[in-house]
Amino acid sequence: MKVIIIGGVAGGMSAAARLRRLSETAEITVLEKGGYVSFANCGLPYYIGGEITDRQNLLLQTPESFRARFNVDVRVRNEAVSIDAKAKTIRVSDLDSGKEYDETYDKLLLSPGAEPVKPPIPGIDNKKIFTLRNMEDTDKIYEFINERQPGSAAVIGGGYIGLETAENLRRRGIDVVVIEAMEQVMGLIDKECASLVRLELMEKGISIHLGDGVKSFSDEAGKLKITTAGGKEITADMAIFSVGVKADIKLAKEAGLETARGIKVNEYMQTSDPDIYAVGDACEVKSAVTEKAVYIPLAGPANKQGRLVAENILSGNTVKYRGTIGSGVLKVFGLTVAATGLNSKQLAAEGVEFESVLLYPGDHAGYYPGAMPLMFKLLFDRKTGRIYGAQCIGASGAEKRIDVISAFMQKNGTVEDLMNFEHCYAPPFSSAKDPVNMAGFMAENIIKGRVKQITYEKISSLNSGWAVLDVRETEELMQGMLPGAMHVPLNMLRARTNELPRDKKILVYCAVGLRGYLACRILMNNGFTEVYNLSGGIRTISIINS
Ligand SMILES: Cc1cc2nc3c(=O)[nH]c(=O)nc-3n(C[C@H](O)[C@H](O)[C@H](O)COP(=O)(O)OP(=O)(O)OC[C@H]3O[C@@H](n4cnc5c(N)ncnc54)[C@H](O)[C@@H]3O)c2cc1C
Repeated sequence: MKVIIIGGVAGGMSAAARLRRLSETAEITVLEKGGYVSFANCGLPYYIGGEITDRQNLLLQTPESFRARFNVDVRVRNEAVSIDAKAKTIRVSDLDSGKEYDETYDKLLLSPGAEPVKPPIPGIDNKKIFTLRNMEDTDKIYEFINERQPGSAAVIGGGYIGLETAENLRRRGIDVVVIEAMEQVMGLIDKECASLVRLELMEKGISIHLGDGVKSFSDEAGKLKITTAGGKEITADMAIFSVGVKADIKLAKEAGLETARGIKVNEYMQTSDPDIYAVGDACEVKSAVTEKAVYIPLAGPANKQGRLVAENILSGNTVKYRGTIGSGVLKVFGLTVAATGLNSKQLAAEGVEFESVLLYPGDHAGYYPGAMPLMFKLLFDRKTGRIYGAQCIGASGAEKRIDVISAFMQKNGTVEDLMNFEHCYAPPFSSAKDPVNMAGFMAENIIKGRVKQITYEKISSLNSGWAVLDVRETEELMQGMLPGAMHVPLNMLRARTNELPRDKKILVYCAVGLRGYLACRILMNNGFTEVYNLSGGIRTISIINS
């Protein structure tokens, strides 16, 4: 069996190593057009920022070490330029010698990854503008910073690569502005959660320019001038262009394979040609949530698909890929930002009716020193309780909650599973009712009609048929109140229900939603039926408006 793999990083090298572990006799060749294989893409921003100090640590394997351990023929700076799927041959260009040669294969694996999106914006090829995908890009940015000592940088795009790079440029003492066309950073999470990320960035000295894309780049007095669609002019010594990635489907398309946003594959990661498989960022896969085709370029899925596909290549389609949920995590200075599944916008775009709960639990028991709040949003089906997604942000413990939700989602879990989730508990780590349990309890209350809620988006549409009730303590009111709100502290509510209108709907709010919920229960138990709690309380509104 002769297997050729195109692409020598996450998916490709996982497959190569697994192929060898399964077969001593397979002839395995990896073609990599770059100068390095098995490098740590995810670590690149941290090398630029100086957190990872030794460049060598990014290079997990070399062609030589991989050959020694796995007996795989790894050819760097060898680019596959075309595939003849009928003849089962590949044309390869040796980028150093400039010579081309042909290779035959029994099975071919495509793992060419994704390229940074680079729209035809005037001036985008300016030498002061960089993209970040591989070691070569990293070296260029690193050298530019060391040689030119830039004082300012613009990061175009507030996605995860943009924000990681922004943080790391700041770490090098560079003034950074993030320019983002959307109204929020981190398009993969909901606006209220993204607003907390924005506040952290601003607090750490990053300027944020939202809702305004770049129209052109030009040189001005030795600097890069960035003109936005909104007419703003921003100058910087350099820019990182990171507005997203697109699957590298060129080779596959030219070879006649079926493609869409990525190379199309079946559940065995097999393309429309039975002898060609594909994995990683180059592929479209099935969403484990919607069952529809999705494009989710992440390292975890790429690595796991690479491992799985080796088995299918050697044994003839024995292992199915279950689909990708889309679980990701990001460090933004002091915050961990983690998410899994679909966000509100994605669910709405899919036409899925969903409900959400927003809570601010402590990462561990409040009485144990150092407890910090998490912002935790859970999205679920109101009728069945099925979990659609979750987002969690905080100084610590965010990703462990999202990993739990992700694990339940992989088993088609419901909010009932979250309520019953048994976690390991001691005060330094969690609470006896973990935030995951709390989210489940809150979701169950909504499903069972124990509480009705309103999310912050709906506040502006409330009319004169509504009364607004603030149940916080008097000393909290100076932090701001909703317009027209009456104030009855929670502990006095039972005694003062006669002050509340029975002919109006009542919106109840507190700081984060817990006391609002308790107030709703008191009112409902006293015969009020049209009572609604403000999800996430007034803190959420203040985070969005800050
Ligand atoms: C800066 C950065 C940070 C990231 N951080 C994270 C993170 O924290 N978490 C996470 O989950 N994901 C992260 N990712 C994404 C993650 O790296 C990718 O999802 C993963 O590497 C995809 O693996 P892959 O094998 O599909 O593609 P890649 O790892 O990109 O490998 C593809 C390789 O194929 C080569 N190639 C392409 N065409 C050819 C050809 N014709 N011939 C020969 N070789 C070819 C390319 O040169 C490339 O080296 C990050 C990515 C970047 C760039």
